[in-house]
Amino acid sequence: MDTKSNELLNKDEKYVWHAMRHYNPDATMVIRKGEGAWVTDINGNKYLDGMSGLWCVNVGYGREELARASYDQMKELPYFPMTQSHVPAIKLGEKLNEWLDDDYVIFFSNSGSEANETAFKMARQFHQQNGEPERQKFISRYRAYHGNSMGALAATGQAERKYRYEPLAPGFLHVTPPDMYRSPYKGTKEEQSIACADEIDRVMTWELDKTVAAVIMEPIITGGGVIMPHDSYLQRVREICDKHGALLIIDEVICGFGRTGKPFGFQNYGVKPDIVTMAKGVTSAYLPLSATAVRREVYESFMGKEPYDNFRHVNTFGGNPTSCAVALKNIEILERENLVERSATMGEKLLNEMSELENHPYVGDVRGKGLLLGIELVENKETKEPASSDKLDQIISFCKQKGLIIAKNGDTVAGYNNILTLSPPLSMTDDDLKFIIKTVKEAFAQI
Ligand code: PMP
Repeated sequence: MDTKSNELLNKDEKYVWHAMRHYNPDATMVIRKGEGAWVTDINGNKYLDGMSGLWCVNVGYGREELARASYDQMKELPYFPMTQSHVPAIKLGEKLNEWLDDDYVIFFSNSGSEANETAFKMARQFHQQNGEPERQKFISRYRAYHGNSMGALAATGQAERKYRYEPLAPGFLHVTPPDMYRSPYKGTKEEQSIACADEIDRVMTWELDKTVAAVIMEPIITGGGVIMPHDSYLQRVREICDKHGALLIIDEVICGFGRTGKPFGFQNYGVKPDIVTMAKGVTSAYLPLSATAVRREVYESFMGKEPYDNFRHVNTFGGNPTSCAVALKNIEILERENLVERSATMGEKLLNEMSELENHPYVGDVRGKGLLLGIELVENKETKEPASSDKLDQIISFCKQKGLIIAKNGDTVAGYNNILTLSPPLSMTDDDLKFIIKTVKEAFAQI
């Protein structure tokens, strides 16, 4: 490492507070540049970013068009509040509706956490305005992640991320996630999934009918370890919400914008959510932007005549014109390069190849949809005892040495921090895909 790089690392240690880890100069990657699926660090080392940053750079790095869209919009109009309106927000609202394939009205914010907070507030107010003010609770799943703010973290089902900051927002309840590899229920995968969904039905009844405002879930739990239900699960959840009069909020922060091989993850399962939250892939993370899309019937309940019947929620930066212009260009790229379909076909190839790893003594389960993949490591296939973190770290570090970034995810408190994850850019080349497959297989051959 040259002195300049060393100097930067020293300043990084001194001035920058990083998320989720203690400072470690050996593990810190200071990235200078990105192109396609690849990033280059300050020492010139190249890595294929198999996680698309934090599951978000869907169209890959170095897109000149996005820089241009940003520059042009900033010159034209860098800012105007969404208490009024501007052209990029209107165009993006229309475009997102096309992708959602139904009649939604869009509220813009900046991050996934905010999009979920916005959804919670909308759900409570919706019920108040419908004469059911006692509907205040929310149900989500253990092992899911929904954001870092007091409500979104309360919805999160990973105690390790929460316990230092409690008490969080009250009124959030959790049920068992439909983990088909470790289900507490017996029967076929479908029966096990339905049994998990039916917990929601039970909780809604036992909590006193009409006290639950909404259920929030990702179509596939991503950060909690790529937890995939049977195809019938989400429909069952929809039926339960309808039976009890609760709203269904689908968190598409990671699953949206092609990650699972469909425009949005819920579209794999034939359900219609009441509220859809999205972030990350909407701009491929080139700029911060998120959205809370609300079915028109829900939106219309906010049109009452009382002075406070509108949505009492302002967001200074939400729907920033430059972010919206970049989102529009990003979606144009996704469409022009057929990246949603590409995610489905490349994802199938990746899953097929990686499924061969199930013969490996430490691989318990390989699962995924589109370019979202989880490889669950165990010490023992019979007992399913989760693999030690050394094994996961060994694989991650081998991949890194070969120039591939992958991650481990799950939930430490639940005892399952044993899932290797991949979520590469949807725009990666066929050679990139081959490189991922080859490198991960080589890494497993080492342990
Ligand atoms: N929901 C899900 C499913 C997420 O994965 C995340 C972030 N990883 C969030 C919400 C929160 O998004 P943000 O970090 O943009 O606040």
